Amino acid sequence: MPDSPVERARRIAAEVLIPAAEATDQADLVPTTHLARLADAGLFAVYGPATHGGTPAPGPQVRAVHRVLGGACGVTYFVWAQHQGPVMLLASSPNAELRDRWLPRLCRGEVVGGTAFAHLRRPGPPAVLATPSDGGWRLDGEAPWASSWGRAGVYSVAAFTPDGDVLWVLVEGHPQPGLSASAPLALAVMQATGTVRLRFERFEVPADQVILQLPPDLWWAIDDGISARLNPAVLGVADRALALLGERTAEERGAGVDLGEALGAELGACATRNEALAADADAGSVDLDALADGRAWGIDLAQRAALALLTATGGRGVELASPPQRLVREAAFYAIQAQTRPGRDASLRRAAQAGSAPEEGPPPATEASVAVIGG
Ligand SMILES: Cc1cc2nc3c(=O)[nH]c(=O)nc-3n(C[C@H](O)[C@H](O)[C@H](O)COP(=O)(O)OP(=O)(O)OC[C@H]3O[C@@H](n4cnc5c(N)ncnc54)[C@H](O)[C@@H]3O)c2cc1C
Repeated sequence: MPDSPVERARRIAAEVLIPAAEATDQADLVPTTHLARLADAGLFAVYGPATHGGTPAPGPQVRAVHRVLGGACGVTYFVWAQHQGPVMLLASSPNAELRDRWLPRLCRGEVVGGTAFAHLRRPGPPAVLATPSDGGWRLDGEAPWASSWGRAGVYSVAAFTPDGDVLWVLVEGHPQPGLSASAPLALAVMQATGTVRLRFERFEVPADQVILQLPPDLWWAIDDGISARLNPAVLGVADRALALLGERTAEERGAGVDLGEALGAELGACATRNEALAADADAGSVDLDALADGRAWGIDLAQRAALALLTATGGRGVELASPPQRLVREAAFYAIQAQTRPGRDASLRRAAQAGSAPEEGPPPATEASVAVIGG
């Protein structure tokens, strides 16, 4: 494949994902044809090791792929992104047999992967507990989020052991004794990701299905370096909103304000800042507060860009066949996606920053203006 993963992602975005994005958003599940296109283009392999069929790409390129796919079609992007969880975990697994069995198939996209681990970050007793059983483990509890149900062949599932270690196991993506899935959650956004709750009741996991067992300090250090950063898909949502704004006439875009110029300049600065922070984090220098602030900035900017597009489009922008409403919902989704405590605090701090009042207050309400409110 002579061209870069980013170029391949751009081509699929233009040819397949963007033209179908509104229909895909309303579908029950992401079409298998979308996933097949990504697989054929080698995009399921960008996190995989070369030893197992992967074509590892440098961090900036992989982040650019997230940005392109995230801006093209939120649900297809998210299913693709969740796949990378088991790929990365298997790549660093000491369980050679499990790795050799699944990793090449995952890299080829022959099997789609999913992951369920957000519950680790919730305060309180473990949502999923792993207790030793017959040389392996027994899982009990509920994983509140698992996307790609109905598409994913395997999931990396995380649980706490009684000692507080984080145990990662590989679980096949179908109901089986001790494992049941809820109906797909009815969601305001990302419906076609097939997101369910997974319930474990005395679910036996043989030792040969264990991917990794990590001491808590190591796990939290890894998680901080990953989850606090901005998901580049957020920048993709802003890109798409600005591109659509750019297609409108100056008059439609808004009264005397060049939104493309103003928001575009901010987007460039925000992307540069977050890329630098991500590169530092990749190199082992994790500045948690700066990452969380960078994440909050990106999320805020994507929301403003999507809302500006909706405002400029007008009422028909809320029709389900129209991109602005989808982009507004997707921008909102990223406010909570992979949300950790520092990320949540940074976003809420940003929300609490007082907006400025208009320079001159609004004119006092008259009988006539009151009469039209609600029109
Ligand atoms: C459509 C969709 C699909 C998803 N798919 C997946 C998936 O496939 N796999 C997966 O693992 N996850 C998935 N998630 C989870 C997602 O990435 C986030 O982790 C999740 O939305 C965060 O929300 P929450 O309700 O779990 O935590 P929140 O309540 O939003 O809390 C976020 C964080 O803030 C902190 N916090 C919250 N409450 C408190 C408190 N009272 N005291 C102190 N700290 C607190 C905790 O660190 C917590 O983890 C999905 C979410 C959605 C909406």
